[in-house]
Amino acid sequence: MNDDAPITTEPLFGGIEAGGTKFVCVVGTGPDDVRAQTRIDTTSPRPTIDQAIRFFREVHASGVAVAAMGIASFGPVELRRSEATYGFITQTPKPHWSDTDMVGPFAAALEVPIGFDTDVNAAALAEWRWGATRGLGTFVYITVGTGIGGGVVANGGTIHGMVHPEMGHVLVPRQEGDTYKGGCPYHGNCLEGMASGVAISERWGRPAEELEGRTLTKAVEMEAGYLASGLRNIVYSVAPERIVLGGGVAAMPGLIPRLREKLIERLNGYPGLPEHNSDDFVVPAQLGSGAGSAGSIALAEIALLHDRARH
Ligand code: ZN
Repeated sequence: MNDDAPITTEPLFGGIEAGGTKFVCVVGTGPDDVRAQTRIDTTSPRPTIDQAIRFFREVHASGVAVAAMGIASFGPVELRRSEATYGFITQTPKPHWSDTDMVGPFAAALEVPIGFDTDVNAAALAEWRWGATRGLGTFVYITVGTGIGGGVVANGGTIHGMVHPEMGHVLVPRQEGDTYKGGCPYHGNCLEGMASGVAISERWGRPAEELEGRTLTKAVEMEAGYLASGLRNIVYSVAPERIVLGGGVAAMPGLIPRLREKLIERLNGYPGLPEHNSDDFVVPAQLGSGAGSAGSIALAEIALLHDRARH
């Protein structure tokens, strides 16, 4: 054996799932290989970002070099590289965080390529790389939790246009017998306004995970109806090969099977694709609560590939 043989190792990546309540910072190669991790409370921008930078510097000082970093951020964010505010959180209802540069401080401190996207797009990329949509070309990932967000992967990448898609705000018809006014501060009765975790709590008087008995049955029926209407809009506008549902509300017992039935009713045989009737058309997310961290590592991987392609 030749002791001088070069050691070939997989590159390690850094990732941050930047959420409204905590920043989860990880170092690793994927959801099953996390070598270091820390959680930082999301306070105001400067101390939160400084703490995250300190974590990655300490990892580096311990002899672990990351080849690239990914930041999966709450939004809205600026994703157009042509804009001076690329990599910023733009206008957010979260106090102190509007107009915060998320990429710049890490790029300056750590000097590695940095991938940046929304938390939802990153989760979509993680499902693509390691989860429920491996090998597909076009799919949609929807998270139903406190809010509703969606990410689209089409023709080999996430869709960024003027901004990222905001599929939670599509309009859905009111379900029969529902008197809840709708909780979206912008639109009232959009999909998020009627079907988010907040809407469920306000309509039924308690959060989704605490509902039981007849109330749970009724809530699942109504939730399935709203989501089926929302997904119908998405099926017809994006033509996904699969729709993945993540987030806490998506885990309500019996929701996904009922949603599949209602979506088939709403499509009503048009355009007649047998795939739409299959149980693997609407599926639960596979990465669960690890999707955000995995997504940040997926962003880092892509940032490294792009960087290598440029040099
Ligand atoms: Zn809305």
